[in-house]
Amino acid sequence: MARPSALDPLFRSLRSIKGVGPQLGALLDRFFGAEGEAIALDLLMHMPSGLVDRRRMEGVAGAIVGQTATLRLHIDNHLPPPRGRANQPHRIWAHDETGEIQLVYFKSHGNWVEKLLPEGEERFVSGTVGIFNGIKQITHPDYVVDVADFETMPLVEPVYPLTHGLTTKALTKLVRATLETLPDLPEWIVAERLQQFGWPSFREAMTKVHAPAEPADSELWGPARMRLAYDEYLAGQLALLIVRSTLVSARGIARSFTGEITARVEAALPFALTGGQQLAIDHIRDDLASPTRMSRLLQGDVGAGKTVVALMAMAAVAESGAQSALMSPTELLAAQHFRTLKPLADAAGLGIALLTGKQPAAERRAILAGIASGETTIVVGTHALFQSGVEFQNLGLTVVDEQHRFGVAQRLALSDKGKHADLLVMTATPIPRTLVLTHFGDMAVSILSEKPRGRQPIDTAVLSINEYDRVIARLQARIAEGAQAFWVTPLVEESEALDVMSAEDRFAELKRVFGDQVALVHGRMSAAAKQETMDRFQRNEVKILVATTVIEVGVDVPNATIMIIEHAERFGLAQLHQLRGRVGRGSQRSACLLLYKEPLSENAQARLQTIKETEDGFVIAERDLELRGQGDLLGTRQSGMPGYHLAVADVHRHLLEYANGDAKAILAANPGLTGAHGEAVRGLLYLFRKDLALPLIRAG
Ligand code: ADP
Ligand code: MG
Repeated sequence: MARPSALDPLFRSLRSIKGVGPQLGALLDRFFGAEGEAIALDLLMHMPSGLVDRRRMEGVAGAIVGQTATLRLHIDNHLPPPRGRANQPHRIWAHDETGEIQLVYFKSHGNWVEKLLPEGEERFVSGTVGIFNGIKQITHPDYVVDVADFETMPLVEPVYPLTHGLTTKALTKLVRATLETLPDLPEWIVAERLQQFGWPSFREAMTKVHAPAEPADSELWGPARMRLAYDEYLAGQLALLIVRSTLVSARGIARSFTGEITARVEAALPFALTGGQQLAIDHIRDDLASPTRMSRLLQGDVGAGKTVVALMAMAAVAESGAQSALMSPTELLAAQHFRTLKPLADAAGLGIALLTGKQPAAERRAILAGIASGETTIVVGTHALFQSGVEFQNLGLTVVDEQHRFGVAQRLALSDKGKHADLLVMTATPIPRTLVLTHFGDMAVSILSEKPRGRQPIDTAVLSINEYDRVIARLQARIAEGAQAFWVTPLVEESEALDVMSAEDRFAELKRVFGDQVALVHGRMSAAAKQETMDRFQRNEVKILVATTVIEVGVDVPNATIMIIEHAERFGLAQLHQLRGRVGRGSQRSACLLLYKEPLSENAQARLQTIKETEDGFVIAERDLELRGQGDLLGTRQSGMPGYHLAVADVHRHLLEYANGDAKAILAANPGLTGAHGEAVRGLLYLFRKDLALPLIRAG
């Protein structure tokens, strides 16, 4: 399905704009994170972060110190820096009928200042007003224009997030050039919605935002930004619904259950299911029994006990004669799930296998044969489960242990293999309701909110790294009592290599005190080496495990009761919460120590305080939302999930509900997105880079 040609001007390279040479072009490519060359659309989607309002023209007397003013000035005389005193500024006296002012330029080599502001002439000057020795002044005015060229000065000027080498002026010029070629696009928003809010067209909205005549044109709560935010939500909702409809439109199978296998699994559990687990299992069983395909999100904090719910679901599917696949984000986690599930599956008489990318050929052949014959009922693995060569006899259920590592794209990848398979997605990220809608469309949701009984609260303390000696002494005492500890080292955003380095440094340091009781795992180790070390920790041969955040997800060592996080101020809330969730899994009381290095930013302090105060993942998620804003909550970069550029949750969140309803109505009325309106809607999906979903329409 080709891109509607009306959009072509938006998809042309920025290099086609006059003045954009190879150097600026490359800078823009990088700045916009373009895959190839940055295009006009990238520029338009780059929203201003604020405004400069130059409309205040009250003369020198009325100019307010600290604010932007525009003045019509007579240029009186120049006071260049004395010879040999180049660090002195170049001052220019100027006046209007209300008073005198100085214009100030530092490091003004050559005579361009004299040329810009010729003595005896008049100029419009705009900039931030300051005061020095009781005299008003403007240092480095933003604009100086001839009286005749007054119109060229933007009185309301958007300010953009910039990068080194890119100025507001240069960016503004490019944006203006792009706006000039912006076509009128066919309208995708339904007429009633447009009327309801009095929204402008896409083109008008973009023009208002980037070239505002007054501040309201560009403000977040103005109609132009509202419309664009809605557009973005609408595109997101349409894409999710399209993805979901291909997942559920293939009719599911109304399964029936004997109850035998699930009963055997339940009997083999060393504990009783919690009420929440039982309820989730009931929901899933209802979904499986219904003729539509299941698409359910099982949400539960770290340690909430999602794995057992998944096992019960897989056991139920086995009763109906079908297989299940459990997909983990890493081989380490897949192996761990396998170890957890194997004894239970054995006890229930279920064939279970682990499929990894690194098994010897013969072993792999045997496993594949078991999957193909149906002898293996449950297969555990990574996304490799859905690569070619793996043929299921009858795949009935796919469980995705998402741990916030997968995104829509990964889910699409598995929709092929398991065309009719039911889908259960497990996520440890506690997601507020609106975000479920944003990121998962309208998947049904089960929440495990209570933790399994017998869990002890975790004592969390926040401590400066200056207390290192005390920490070590305390740790020695606890290790002597038989405890095991995680020691997580700083996360260095920019470089995995640096992560490893800091882990190695800490490891060396601790080794001097604890000797062979300490081991190290990090992301650069081979999966086998990592596994080997984890196993030793699990068998209690290692007492302290120094780790980069590779242990963040899913590692289950109930005897580990101490979590020390170094440079905790560098971690996000969600991550701190995940990491702390690695302890407190057994019946022993656990402790979490957040070590920070001063100075602490206000935000970091708020994060550490939040973790100290609560273990409630939902409270933490809400707080995270406040501190970071919506786009980041799921760790967009990590998860590959779409972030929002135009919509700002705090202001625009309410539009999401409308977008969801409208997207449903649009697809219900026109599932193939045909005709003029269908074409307009497809255009919208291209604009917001959701066209990935479009081939599914054809397929469906
Ligand atoms: P997560 O939701 O993080 O995947 P798990 O399924 O790994 O959590 O469960 C965490 C731990 O809690 C496991 O050791 C598991 O055996 C245990 N567990 C699960 N359900 C219960 C329960 N109902 N009662 C007691 N312990 C439970
Ligand atoms: Mg888990």
